[in-house]
Amino acid sequence: MASNSDFERCFLTGGAGFIGSHLGDRLLAEGKAVTVYDNLSSGRREWIAHNIGQPGFTFIEADLLDAPKLKEAMAGHDLVIHLGANTDIPGGNQDVRLDLENCTIATHHVLDAMRATGIKRLLFSSTSAVYGEAPVIPTPEDVGPLLPISLYGAAKLACETLVSAYCHIFNMQAWMFRFANVVGGRMGHGVIYDFIQKLKRNSEEMEILGDGQQEKPFFPVEDCIDGMFCAFHRSEAWCDVFNLGCSSSTKISRLAEIVVEEMGLSGVRFRYTGGRRGWVGDVPQVGLDVSKMKRLGWEARHTSDEAVRIAARRLLGVPVAAS
Ligand code: NAD
Repeated sequence: MASNSDFERCFLTGGAGFIGSHLGDRLLAEGKAVTVYDNLSSGRREWIAHNIGQPGFTFIEADLLDAPKLKEAMAGHDLVIHLGANTDIPGGNQDVRLDLENCTIATHHVLDAMRATGIKRLLFSSTSAVYGEAPVIPTPEDVGPLLPISLYGAAKLACETLVSAYCHIFNMQAWMFRFANVVGGRMGHGVIYDFIQKLKRNSEEMEILGDGQQEKPFFPVEDCIDGMFCAFHRSEAWCDVFNLGCSSSTKISRLAEIVVEEMGLSGVRFRYTGGRRGWVGDVPQVGLDVSKMKRLGWEARHTSDEAVRIAARRLLGVPVAAS
Protein backbone atom coordinates (compact mmCIF):
# COMPACT_ATOMS: atom_id res chain seq x y z
CA MET A 1 0.00 0.00 0.00
CA ALA A 2 1.49 3.35 -0.98
CA SER A 3 1.91 6.10 1.58
CA ASN A 4 1.67 9.15 -0.61
CA SER A 5 0.11 12.53 -0.88
CA ASP A 6 -2.49 11.68 -3.49
CA PHE A 7 -5.56 12.55 -1.54
CA GLU A 8 -8.15 15.12 -2.49
CA ARG A 9 -10.81 15.11 0.21
CA CYS A 10 -9.77 15.11 3.84
CA PHE A 11 -12.14 14.43 6.72
CA LEU A 12 -10.82 16.37 9.71
CA THR A 13 -12.28 15.61 13.13
CA GLY A 14 -11.65 18.25 15.78
CA GLY A 15 -10.99 20.67 12.93
CA ALA A 16 -12.42 23.66 14.80
CA GLY A 17 -9.88 23.24 17.60
CA PHE A 18 -6.43 24.68 18.07
CA ILE A 19 -4.37 22.24 15.98
CA GLY A 20 -7.29 21.33 13.71
CA SER A 21 -8.02 24.88 12.62
CA HIS A 22 -4.37 25.35 11.62
CA LEU A 23 -4.40 22.04 9.81
CA GLY A 24 -7.57 23.01 7.93
CA ASP A 25 -5.85 26.23 6.80
CA ARG A 26 -2.85 24.26 5.57
CA LEU A 27 -4.96 21.73 3.66
CA LEU A 28 -7.03 24.42 1.96
CA ALA A 29 -3.87 26.33 1.03
CA GLU A 30 -2.62 23.15 -0.63
CA GLY A 31 -5.81 22.91 -2.69
CA LYS A 32 -7.39 20.02 -0.79
CA ALA A 33 -11.06 19.78 0.05
CA VAL A 34 -11.62 19.66 3.83
CA THR A 35 -14.61 18.61 5.85
CA VAL A 36 -14.37 19.66 9.47
CA TYR A 37 -16.44 17.55 11.85
CA ASP A 38 -16.52 19.08 15.32
CA ASN A 39 -19.01 19.53 18.15
CA LEU A 40 -17.40 22.81 19.28
CA SER A 41 -16.99 21.51 22.84
CA SER A 42 -13.52 23.08 23.03
CA GLY A 43 -13.12 24.22 19.43
CA ARG A 44 -14.45 27.61 18.36
CA ARG A 45 -16.44 28.69 15.34
CA GLU A 46 -14.37 31.90 15.19
CA TRP A 47 -11.21 29.85 14.54
CA ILE A 48 -12.66 28.50 11.28
CA ALA A 49 -14.94 31.43 10.38
CA HIS A 50 -12.47 32.63 7.73
CA ASN A 51 -12.83 29.30 5.91
CA ILE A 52 -16.61 28.93 6.06
CA GLY A 53 -17.98 29.61 2.58
CA GLN A 54 -14.58 29.07 0.91
CA PRO A 55 -14.57 26.58 -1.98
CA GLY A 56 -13.67 23.11 -0.76
CA PHE A 57 -14.43 23.80 2.90
CA THR A 58 -17.35 22.17 4.71
CA PHE A 59 -18.13 22.46 8.40
CA ILE A 60 -20.36 19.91 10.09
CA GLU A 61 -21.20 20.72 13.69
CA ALA A 62 -21.78 17.27 15.13
CA ASP A 63 -20.61 14.83 17.75
CA LEU A 64 -18.23 11.92 17.20
CA LEU A 65 -20.48 9.95 19.54
CA ASP A 66 -23.26 10.16 16.93
CA ALA A 67 -22.07 7.15 14.90
CA PRO A 68 -24.72 7.20 12.11
CA LYS A 69 -24.14 10.90 11.48
CA LEU A 70 -20.38 10.40 11.48
CA LYS A 71 -20.57 7.59 8.95
CA GLU A 72 -22.84 9.59 6.66
CA ALA A 73 -20.56 12.65 6.87
CA MET A 74 -17.36 10.68 6.26
CA ALA A 75 -18.47 8.96 3.04
CA GLY A 76 -16.66 10.17 -0.08
CA HIS A 77 -13.40 11.26 1.58
CA ASP A 78 -10.03 9.63 0.94
CA LEU A 79 -8.06 10.55 4.06
CA VAL A 80 -9.13 10.91 7.71
CA ILE A 81 -7.20 13.08 10.14
CA HIS A 82 -8.61 12.41 13.59
CA LEU A 83 -7.89 15.10 16.18
CA GLY A 84 -11.26 15.29 17.94
CA ALA A 85 -10.88 14.45 21.62
CA ASN A 86 -11.40 15.69 25.12
CA THR A 87 -8.39 17.88 25.82
CA ASP A 88 -9.29 18.99 29.35
CA ILE A 89 -7.00 16.55 31.14
CA PRO A 90 -7.72 17.61 34.76
CA GLY A 91 -11.43 17.74 33.83
CA GLY A 92 -11.22 14.04 33.10
CA ASN A 93 -10.55 13.44 36.80
CA GLN A 94 -13.86 15.09 37.71
CA ASP A 95 -15.99 13.54 34.99
CA VAL A 96 -14.46 10.12 34.52
CA ARG A 97 -16.42 9.34 31.32
CA LEU A 98 -15.03 12.37 29.48
CA ASP A 99 -11.91 10.71 28.07
CA LEU A 100 -13.45 7.28 27.65
CA GLU A 101 -16.25 8.73 25.53
CA ASN A 102 -14.58 11.57 23.62
CA CYS A 103 -11.24 9.83 23.03
CA THR A 104 -11.72 6.06 23.06
CA ILE A 105 -15.34 5.53 22.00
CA ALA A 106 -15.11 8.45 19.57
CA THR A 107 -12.01 6.88 17.99
CA HIS A 108 -13.79 3.55 17.72
CA HIS A 109 -16.61 5.33 15.90
CA VAL A 110 -14.12 6.99 13.54
CA LEU A 111 -12.46 3.67 12.76
CA ASP A 112 -15.74 1.93 12.23
CA ALA A 113 -17.03 4.70 9.97
CA MET A 114 -13.80 4.31 7.96
CA ARG A 115 -14.41 0.57 7.69
CA ALA A 116 -18.00 1.12 6.60
CA THR A 117 -17.14 3.79 4.03
CA GLY A 118 -14.00 2.12 2.69
CA ILE A 119 -11.53 4.85 3.70
CA LYS A 120 -8.12 3.30 4.20
CA ARG A 121 -5.78 5.98 5.55
CA LEU A 122 -5.74 7.64 8.96
CA LEU A 123 -3.55 10.21 10.71
CA PHE A 124 -4.22 10.10 14.45
CA SER A 125 -3.19 12.50 17.21
CA SER A 126 -2.05 10.57 20.24
CA THR A 127 -0.02 12.09 23.05
CA SER A 128 3.16 11.76 25.09
CA ALA A 129 0.77 11.20 28.04
CA VAL A 130 0.57 7.52 27.00
CA TYR A 131 4.06 7.07 28.50
CA GLY A 132 3.02 8.12 32.02
CA GLU A 133 6.16 8.61 34.09
CA ALA A 134 8.47 7.03 31.54
CA PRO A 135 11.42 4.99 32.84
CA VAL A 136 13.65 6.52 30.12
CA ILE A 137 13.95 10.21 29.22
CA PRO A 138 14.18 11.14 26.37
CA THR A 139 11.56 8.48 25.79
CA PRO A 140 11.64 6.44 22.56
CA GLU A 141 8.48 5.09 20.95
CA ASP A 142 9.30 1.47 21.84
CA VAL A 143 9.64 1.92 25.62
CA GLY A 144 7.38 -0.29 27.69
CA PRO A 145 5.29 -1.23 29.47
CA LEU A 146 3.19 1.88 28.87
CA LEU A 147 1.59 2.90 32.16
CA PRO A 148 -0.31 6.19 31.73
CA ILE A 149 -1.18 8.12 34.92
CA SER A 150 -4.13 10.11 33.58
CA LEU A 151 -7.47 8.95 32.20
CA TYR A 152 -6.63 11.03 29.13
CA GLY A 153 -3.36 9.12 28.61
CA ALA A 154 -5.13 5.82 29.23
CA ALA A 155 -7.91 6.66 26.78
CA LYS A 156 -5.43 7.72 24.08
CA LEU A 157 -3.40 4.54 24.57
CA ALA A 158 -6.61 2.56 24.14
CA CYS A 159 -7.17 4.50 20.91
CA GLU A 160 -3.74 3.47 19.63
CA THR A 161 -4.54 -0.18 20.26
CA LEU A 162 -7.86 0.11 18.43
CA VAL A 163 -6.19 1.82 15.49
CA SER A 164 -3.60 -0.95 15.27
CA ALA A 165 -6.22 -3.70 15.39
CA TYR A 166 -8.44 -2.03 12.78
CA CYS A 167 -5.44 -1.60 10.47
CA HIS A 168 -4.59 -5.27 10.78
CA ILE A 169 -8.11 -6.65 10.40
CA PHE A 170 -9.49 -4.24 7.80
CA ASN A 171 -6.39 -3.52 5.74
CA MET A 172 -6.09 0.12 6.74
CA GLN A 173 -2.96 2.22 7.14
CA ALA A 174 -2.32 4.60 10.05
CA TRP A 175 0.23 7.15 11.16
CA MET A 176 -0.10 7.86 14.90
CA PHE A 177 1.63 10.80 16.54
CA ARG A 178 2.55 11.15 20.19
CA PHE A 179 2.67 14.91 20.44
CA ALA A 180 4.65 16.84 23.02
CA ASN A 181 3.03 20.17 24.02
CA VAL A 182 1.89 21.86 20.82
CA VAL A 183 1.68 25.65 21.08
CA GLY A 184 0.71 28.63 18.95
CA GLY A 185 -2.05 31.11 18.31
CA ARG A 186 -5.76 30.17 18.59
CA MET A 187 -5.05 28.10 21.69
CA GLY A 188 -7.92 27.73 24.13
CA HIS A 189 -6.14 25.65 26.74
CA GLY A 190 -2.69 24.82 28.06
CA VAL A 191 -0.26 26.43 30.44
CA ILE A 192 0.71 29.45 28.28
CA TYR A 193 -2.95 30.30 27.68
CA ASP A 194 -3.75 29.85 31.39
CA PHE A 195 -0.87 32.06 32.55
CA ILE A 196 -1.91 34.86 30.17
CA GLN A 197 -5.49 34.70 31.47
CA LYS A 198 -4.29 34.75 35.09
CA LEU A 199 -1.94 37.68 34.49
CA LYS A 200 -4.68 39.64 32.74
CA ARG A 201 -6.77 39.24 35.89
CA ASN A 202 -3.92 39.99 38.32
CA SER A 203 -0.60 41.34 37.06
CA GLU A 204 1.01 41.43 40.52
CA GLU A 205 0.80 37.83 41.62
CA MET A 206 0.27 34.56 39.79
CA GLU A 207 -0.46 31.10 41.14
CA ILE A 208 1.60 28.32 39.53
CA LEU A 209 0.41 24.76 39.98
CA GLY A 210 3.13 22.52 41.44
CA ASP A 211 6.68 23.58 42.33
CA GLY A 212 7.47 25.09 38.91
CA GLN A 213 10.17 22.47 38.30
CA GLN A 214 8.01 20.46 35.90
CA GLU A 215 9.86 20.41 32.60
CA LYS A 216 8.37 19.65 29.18
CA PRO A 217 9.02 20.15 25.47
CA PHE A 218 6.92 22.80 23.69
CA PHE A 219 6.86 23.08 19.90
CA PRO A 220 4.90 25.20 17.41
CA VAL A 221 1.74 23.99 15.73
CA GLU A 222 3.23 24.68 12.27
CA ASP A 223 6.12 22.32 13.05
CA CYS A 224 3.65 19.75 14.32
CA ILE A 225 1.71 19.82 11.05
CA ASP A 226 4.93 19.60 9.01
CA GLY A 227 5.93 16.57 11.05
CA MET A 228 2.62 14.81 10.50
CA PHE A 229 2.83 15.24 6.75
CA CYS A 230 6.51 14.32 6.68
CA ALA A 231 5.70 10.93 8.23
CA PHE A 232 2.62 10.53 6.03
CA HIS A 233 4.67 11.11 2.89
CA ARG A 234 7.80 9.23 3.88
CA SER A 235 6.82 6.29 6.07
CA GLU A 236 5.16 3.35 4.40
CA ALA A 237 4.57 1.22 7.49
CA TRP A 238 1.06 -0.25 7.69
CA CYS A 239 0.62 1.21 11.17
CA ASP A 240 3.26 3.12 13.08
CA VAL A 241 3.68 5.57 15.94
CA PHE A 242 5.94 8.64 15.97
CA ASN A 243 7.05 10.96 18.75
CA LEU A 244 6.57 14.55 17.62
CA GLY A 245 8.21 17.33 19.58
CA CYS A 246 11.54 19.05 20.05
CA SER A 247 14.67 17.83 21.80
CA SER A 248 14.82 20.72 24.27
CA SER A 249 12.35 21.48 27.06
CA THR A 250 11.19 24.35 29.25
CA LYS A 251 10.68 24.46 33.01
CA ILE A 252 7.30 25.80 34.02
CA SER A 253 8.95 28.51 36.16
CA ARG A 254 10.93 29.66 33.08
CA LEU A 255 7.79 29.51 30.96
CA ALA A 256 6.09 31.82 33.45
CA GLU A 257 8.99 34.28 33.16
CA ILE A 258 8.76 34.26 29.35
CA VAL A 259 5.02 34.98 29.48
CA VAL A 260 5.60 37.81 31.97
CA GLU A 261 8.32 39.28 29.71
CA GLU A 262 6.11 39.07 26.64
CA MET A 263 3.27 40.81 28.49
CA GLY A 264 5.66 43.63 29.36
CA LEU A 265 5.19 43.08 33.09
CA SER A 266 7.76 43.14 35.86
CA GLY A 267 7.88 42.30 39.54
CA VAL A 268 5.17 39.62 39.29
CA ARG A 269 5.23 37.36 42.38
CA PHE A 270 4.91 33.66 41.61
CA ARG A 271 3.00 31.67 44.22
CA TYR A 272 3.66 27.95 43.85
CA THR A 273 1.03 25.51 45.10
CA GLY A 274 3.87 23.01 45.69
CA GLY A 275 4.43 19.34 44.94
CA ARG A 276 6.04 17.76 41.89
CA ARG A 277 2.85 17.78 39.83
CA GLY A 278 0.53 20.56 38.69
CA TRP A 279 -2.47 18.27 39.21
CA VAL A 280 -3.20 14.60 39.73
CA GLY A 281 -2.23 12.94 36.45
CA ASP A 282 0.31 15.62 35.46
CA VAL A 283 3.61 14.12 34.30
CA PRO A 284 6.31 16.38 35.81
CA GLN A 285 9.23 15.46 33.53
CA VAL A 286 8.61 14.87 29.84
CA GLY A 287 11.28 14.40 27.19
CA LEU A 288 10.72 12.70 23.87
CA ASP A 289 13.30 10.89 21.79
CA VAL A 290 12.53 12.29 18.35
CA SER A 291 15.25 10.45 16.44
CA LYS A 292 12.71 8.36 14.52
CA MET A 293 11.24 11.53 12.99
CA LYS A 294 14.75 12.91 12.42
CA ARG A 295 15.57 9.82 10.38
CA LEU A 296 12.57 10.65 8.19
CA GLY A 297 13.97 14.15 7.70
CA TRP A 298 11.85 16.17 10.13
CA GLU A 299 13.03 18.25 13.05
CA ALA A 300 11.35 21.01 15.05
CA ARG A 301 12.68 24.36 13.86
CA HIS A 302 12.58 26.10 17.23
CA THR A 303 13.85 25.35 20.69
CA SER A 304 11.22 24.81 23.35
CA ASP A 305 11.85 28.26 24.90
CA GLU A 306 11.54 29.92 21.48
CA ALA A 307 8.28 28.08 20.83
CA VAL A 308 6.87 29.31 24.15
CA ARG A 309 7.80 32.89 23.30
CA ILE A 310 6.32 32.68 19.80
CA ALA A 311 3.09 31.21 21.16
CA ALA A 312 2.81 33.86 23.87
CA ARG A 313 3.24 36.58 21.24
CA ARG A 314 0.61 35.04 18.99
CA LEU A 315 -1.88 34.71 21.84
CA LEU A 316 -1.22 38.32 22.79
CA GLY A 317 -1.80 39.41 19.20
CA VAL A 318 1.79 40.49 18.55
CA PRO A 319 2.70 39.86 14.89
CA VAL A 320 5.23 37.03 14.52
CA ALA A 321 6.87 36.22 11.18
CA ALA A 322 5.85 32.84 9.79
CA SER A 323 8.49 30.30 10.73
P1 NAD B 1 -8.63 21.28 21.05
O1 NAD B 1 -9.41 21.06 22.30
O2 NAD B 1 -8.48 22.68 20.59
O3 NAD B 1 -9.21 20.40 19.87
C1 NAD B 1 -10.03 19.25 20.07
C2 NAD B 1 -11.23 19.41 19.18
O4 NAD B 1 -12.05 18.25 19.27
C3 NAD B 1 -12.11 20.60 19.59
O5 NAD B 1 -12.37 21.40 18.46
C4 NAD B 1 -13.37 19.96 20.15
O6 NAD B 1 -14.51 20.78 19.97
C5 NAD B 1 -13.43 18.66 19.35
N1 NAD B 1 -14.16 17.59 20.01
C6 NAD B 1 -13.99 17.11 21.27
N2 NAD B 1 -14.86 16.13 21.53
C7 NAD B 1 -15.60 15.97 20.40
C8 NAD B 1 -16.68 15.13 20.06
N3 NAD B 1 -17.18 14.22 20.93
N4 NAD B 1 -17.23 15.25 18.83
C9 NAD B 1 -16.76 16.16 17.95
N5 NAD B 1 -15.73 16.99 18.22
C10 NAD B 1 -15.15 16.89 19.44
O7 NAD B 1 -7.21 20.62 21.30
P2 NAD B 1 -5.92 20.54 20.38
O8 NAD B 1 -4.80 21.01 21.23
O9 NAD B 1 -6.15 21.16 19.07
O10 NAD B 1 -5.76 18.97 20.25
C11 NAD B 1 -6.00 18.28 19.02
C12 NAD B 1 -5.62 16.83 19.22
O11 NAD B 1 -4.22 16.74 19.51
C13 NAD B 1 -6.34 16.13 20.36
O12 NAD B 1 -6.62 14.82 19.98
C14 NAD B 1 -5.32 16.13 21.48
O13 NAD B 1 -5.52 15.08 22.37
C15 NAD B 1 -4.03 16.00 20.70
N6 NAD B 1 -2.89 16.51 21.43
C16 NAD B 1 -2.72 17.85 21.61
C17 NAD B 1 -1.62 18.32 22.31
C18 NAD B 1 -1.39 19.79 22.51
O14 NAD B 1 -0.38 20.14 23.13
N7 NAD B 1 -2.21 20.69 22.00
C19 NAD B 1 -0.68 17.41 22.85
C20 NAD B 1 -0.90 16.06 22.68
C21 NAD B 1 -1.98 15.60 21.95
